[in-house]
Amino acid sequence: MQHTQVIIIGGGPGGYETAIRLSQYNIECLVIEKARLGGVCLNWGCIPTKALVKSAELYSEMLDAPAWGLPANHQALDYAKVNERKNAVVEQLVSGIEYLFRKRKIPMVQGTAISVHKEADNYIVETEAGESFSCCYLILATGSEAKSLPGIEIDEVDILSSTGILKLDKLPESLAVVGGGVIGCEFASIFATFGVKVSIIEFLPRLVALEDEEISKRLALSFKKGGISVKTGVGVQSISKGSDSLELSLSDGSSLTAEKVLMSVGRIPVNNLRWIDLELKTERGAIQIDDAMQTSLDRVFAIGDVTARLQLAHTASKQGLIVAEIIRNALTPALQPSSPPAALNYINIPRCTFTHPEIASVGYTQAEAEKVFPEIRIGKFPFTANGKAMAMGNTAGFVKTIARADTNELVGMHIMGPNAAELIAQGAILIANHNTSEDAEAVVFAHPTLSEAIMEAMEDLRNLSIHKI
Ligand code: FAD
Repeated sequence: MQHTQVIIIGGGPGGYETAIRLSQYNIECLVIEKARLGGVCLNWGCIPTKALVKSAELYSEMLDAPAWGLPANHQALDYAKVNERKNAVVEQLVSGIEYLFRKRKIPMVQGTAISVHKEADNYIVETEAGESFSCCYLILATGSEAKSLPGIEIDEVDILSSTGILKLDKLPESLAVVGGGVIGCEFASIFATFGVKVSIIEFLPRLVALEDEEISKRLALSFKKGGISVKTGVGVQSISKGSDSLELSLSDGSSLTAEKVLMSVGRIPVNNLRWIDLELKTERGAIQIDDAMQTSLDRVFAIGDVTARLQLAHTASKQGLIVAEIIRNALTPALQPSSPPAALNYINIPRCTFTHPEIASVGYTQAEAEKVFPEIRIGKFPFTANGKAMAMGNTAGFVKTIARADTNELVGMHIMGPNAAELIAQGAILIANHNTSEDAEAVVFAHPTLSEAIMEAMEDLRNLSIHKI
């Protein structure tokens, strides 16, 4: 039986980045992956959707070409070509990760891990193919999968998951998106831009319910303006299939028809291993971990979506890099006593939604900050007053900053508008460094840039924004 120091089950952004970091530390590890390296993120999530977002963005700009004094291109949209480009981007990125593994000589077993037991002090992982591998440390990075609503089956023909919708070879005439969270809103935005008639049905009172309330409201307004029908506070009770369309019965007594349905009502952890004479604690399907990603079993860690903390690729990666550090400290006594890696503060992980307009946030929402701090200040700056956004013809949205009133320390930033997901890194840095509005005022921001909207929203915390009306 092959023995190695660390086995990682799952080669998504959590698993593969951890493997590379361990190899940088000269720690032997082996990755067991049943599909392809990159996991959901590279193959069926972050990357293919962002390739579609870019095509949609370009398409919408091309339709607007005459307003810019540019020649209009009246050729019809070629969705097969859009897909081809998306698939090529995925292929390039995944094969890049495979190359990194080969270059670093990180062994990968292509197969499904099915069970874990213990022999002496080692964990033994068995695969479906009957192979066994032994290790001192085990990292569980098996990710998550789409869930559905009771009584509604995702058939991937008419009722699609986020994976199924990425496999469509032609655009439907109409699409009902069940669930107005991040994934549902991104697909709604992409397909509506391509000209599909899109309806969103969300059970909660607002879209992207984890975001600041103001952002949710503005996104719903923007979507409605862009022709997307948005129903919030309404559940889907059943879906029946007609000859060429689906009928959705809604909890408000109404119904709607669509050619395809996207189920985007959340993702459940993939907790698919059999633990033989071992008790791995879980909570509502997610593997329980402490601040150091340690599970209920000694030397067994879990990272990423399977822990259901904040189901984002960069959460998975960061958790994994912290685990790599912990294992390195444990395996290299010469490094002792080294300070343990800082625990991950989940509030300060940036969250991005690649809709049009794009949204991104870090830190507390206004409602959360009002509960946590005795008093807060709000700063705001609209992109309508930002020169670069005007030049880009993309002025929908704003930057909102939230600071503690007593210290002026920034505790939340919310952006809706052009390049929000790129800009939010500035908020993440300011918050991680406990910066105040005065600290941000000491920085020079280049002109003309979208970042100046951040500068002005920071200045606005002390009513010092120059261009705000
Ligand atoms: P995964 O990426 O799910 O990887 C888990 C891997 O484990 C898979 O490759 C799977 O095949 C393998 N596996 C499972 N069980 C076994 C087993 N028993 N044996 C062997 N292998 C196994 N996040 C962002 O940060 N930004 C985005 O823009 C973004 N967009 C998204 C869009 C969509 C449509 C979706 C669905 C998700 C998106 N996400 C995004 C979320 C992101 O994809 C996940 O948070 C991320 O992939 C989680 O990484 P992971 O390593 O925990 O798991």
